[in-house]
Amino acid sequence: MSVRFTDFYKKGKPALSVEIFPPKTEKGVNNLFSELEKLKQIKPEFVSVTYGAGGSTRNLTSDLALQVRENLNIKTAFHFTCVGSGREEMKEYVTALAKQDMNLIVALRGDKPQNVEEFVPPADGFRYANELVAYLKSLHPFSMAVAGYPEGHVEAPSLEEDLKNLKKKVDAGADVIITQLFYDNHLFYNYVEKVRAMGIEIPIVAGVLPIQSLPQIERFLGLCGSTLPDELRKKLEECGEDHAAQREIGVQQAIDQCRDLIKNGVDGIHFYCLNKSYSVLKIYEGIKDLL
Ligand code: FAD
Repeated sequence: MSVRFTDFYKKGKPALSVEIFPPKTEKGVNNLFSELEKLKQIKPEFVSVTYGAGGSTRNLTSDLALQVRENLNIKTAFHFTCVGSGREEMKEYVTALAKQDMNLIVALRGDKPQNVEEFVPPADGFRYANELVAYLKSLHPFSMAVAGYPEGHVEAPSLEEDLKNLKKKVDAGADVIITQLFYDNHLFYNYVEKVRAMGIEIPIVAGVLPIQSLPQIERFLGLCGSTLPDELRKKLEECGEDHAAQREIGVQQAIDQCRDLIKNGVDGIHFYCLNKSYSVLKIYEGIKDLL
């Protein structure tokens, strides 16, 4: 039987997972593998590999997911988006991966290019992730994760509207929800409560991005619409240009955040590790007594 996301979240303790992106150079790939060797210490249930803007990393994504699975013996999921391919092309790509028993997909719409008003689906492609989930399901019994937004998706008129759309993805066959990064757990708890009130029972995994530096996190927040609590921002600003000090604040913040999530029964934590092990390993040291 092929592995399913649900296998990871029924062990009575929060499952840890890690997200990576395909490096552009061979040197980057070698560095990533040595970082992943270190990250094995946290015993991730799976590693997921992102899909670049416009489908630009299509083969890099699947090759890397296969390589990580073969070389490191870690289960891998590949991200796949509605951007850049029509149905036939999608079918060819995912069917080839299914034949290699790549059964775990993080199914997304994908980001629209920054200079356009509205997402334009490819000819014969899909506009929303729920359509993609339904299509992939019709091709093969894939296990799929979908994105959730504790602060609402940037394009959604309200959190309530976004939640209705989340329900469509779940009804189409998603097995798990992985959230966008957030820094205030109250937003997450409020979100979980609303999701559960809609009758959605699948695991909700918290996406945690350990802050590396203030300029970098500002850039990410600008893209995804998540917010930084004032107190945390102030602490980061007090470091001035000292990015190493900001990274340590990021580690401590993530330890506190994850401890609180675990104590409150979170299903899993998905680390956006940015292809680096340093912060995640320190966070693991700070939470492992609870796991
Ligand atoms: P959707 O669920 O389709 O939602 C997009 C917008 O449309 C939302 O505002 C929603 O409310 C609305 N909507 C949804 N369905 C409907 C409907 N049926 N009718 C009307 N409105 C609707 N991006 C990448 O390019 N590559 C990646 O690898 C990647 N990985 C990610 C991993 C995670 C865990 C997360 C949280 C995000 C990731 N993203 C990635 C970013 C993601 O592609 C963007 O956030 C994108 O803008 C929305 O994707 P979605 O799947 O949530 O879209």
